Amino acid sequence: MNAVQLISRDIGKAMSVQTKVIDYMTDYFVKKGFRWLLPVMLSSITDPLWPDPAASKMRAPEIEAYGAKLKLMHSMILHKQFAVSMGLDKIFILSPNIRLEEKDRDDGRHAYEFTQLDFEIAHASMDDVMALIEELIAGLFREAGSWEEISRPLPKPRKPFKRFTLEEIKEEFGDEETASKEMDEPFWITDISREFYDREDPERPGHFRNYDLILPEGYGEVSSGGEREWEYEVIVRKLKDGGLSLEAFRPYLEVAKAGLLKPTAGAGIGVERLVRYLVGAKHIAEVQPFPRIPGVPAII
Ligand code: AMP
Ligand code: MG
Repeated sequence: MNAVQLISRDIGKAMSVQTKVIDYMTDYFVKKGFRWLLPVMLSSITDPLWPDPAASKMRAPEIEAYGAKLKLMHSMILHKQFAVSMGLDKIFILSPNIRLEEKDRDDGRHAYEFTQLDFEIAHASMDDVMALIEELIAGLFREAGSWEEISRPLPKPRKPFKRFTLEEIKEEFGDEETASKEMDEPFWITDISREFYDREDPERPGHFRNYDLILPEGYGEVSSGGEREWEYEVIVRKLKDGGLSLEAFRPYLEVAKAGLLKPTAGAGIGVERLVRYLVGAKHIAEVQPFPRIPGVPAII
């Protein structure tokens, strides 16, 4: 595809749906008393996205600035924790993320530049966050059912959504992909061993207080979140276990060591993935005016 072909695509319907989705979600969080932060796009530290069974081992691209190296943000997870430490107890951000996904990640739901609605709450539990997302998604699907741009039937999910641990998914369906194809309502997968900041259950070591929301019809994951670690010793142990360099997280560890991280829980919801599902697009590029397909350099 060249620039002229790209500009000649009809993307109006998807952008109308995206406008309504962003309007609905931001209104939802504002009305619940969340404060809306602007995104951070460059930092000395970002989400390592590792270890994570669902991520390829990628590095955040860096730029030189003022004699230092700054990374392009993979996600704002660490900054969300910092913001709560500043006394901002309930926050959200429309966060643009760069992730140089591998070419083999071109599965229709990965883009290398995308936006998530990312939120975090002081002293919240996984049940609090899951209930908040269920109310948001059920309300959004109800509303979207009446939008003129939506020409396909949407499920009317009943709350609470079904929950499976990752172990249960493997036993019942084989894998997440198959589960997503076989289910006809959104559902949760919990207890996933991944990045250091997701909280390990202190009463059940080896189990994790985190969750992914999976869309039906094979559309797959649309949200990931968890309760977070906040204790310095635990964070250091998990960074080491994950083979990550402590030096790469120095400012984060300073804040943790000073006892300034708080227990929090939150999640990120992929905006393009949600829009793709609502309009029934086969590929995420169909809902991106400027597609960012893994393995394919952007034309414009
Ligand atoms: P994560 O915490 O890494 O799972 O990211 C949060 C959410 O952002 C995911 O649940 C997706 O909805 C979305 N997301 C993550 N990576 C991508 C990607 N490469 N392309 C599009 N959306 C993504
Ligand atoms: Mg995820």
